[in-house]
Amino acid sequence: MGDCIFCRIARGEIPCSKVYEDDEVLAFHDINPVAPVHFMLVPKLHLASLLDAGEEHAPLLGKMLLLAPKLAQEQGLENGFRTVINTGKGGGQEVLHLHIHIIGGGSIPPMVRRG
Ligand code: 5GP
Ligand code: ZN
Repeated sequence: MGDCIFCRIARGEIPCSKVYEDDEVLAFHDINPVAPVHFMLVPKLHLASLLDAGEEHAPLLGKMLLLAPKLAQEQGLENGFRTVINTGKGGGQEVLHLHIHIIGGGSIPPMVRRG
């Protein structure tokens, strides 16, 4: 996808603060972090969101989920972390290239406040 911002980051056209890279995925720090550690793990393949993922993407998605805790620990999140995947308009997704937010450090509030 030519002008997709995360595709452009994956191609090295836009700089990022890299956490990890291999031939299939890239992880980089969020430009506007919501916690002391906040980075994103993205596939290099352009997939707009989980709504566009199919059976053929299962190995890639599985790899990303298994990579998340490794990278989180490398970034100092030994006690755990939050993963967030916003999907589509209904999920508040702003960048339409699938990404897993990995967030932690400091105090992480409950995700949903009830009452
Ligand atoms: P979404 O709301 O789509 O789940 O999250 C998009 C995230 O991408 C936001 O947290 C935003 O701060 C981050 N972001 C947007 N543009 C850039 C960019 O150019 N570089 C980096 N590193 N992060 C970005
Ligand atoms: Zn893209």
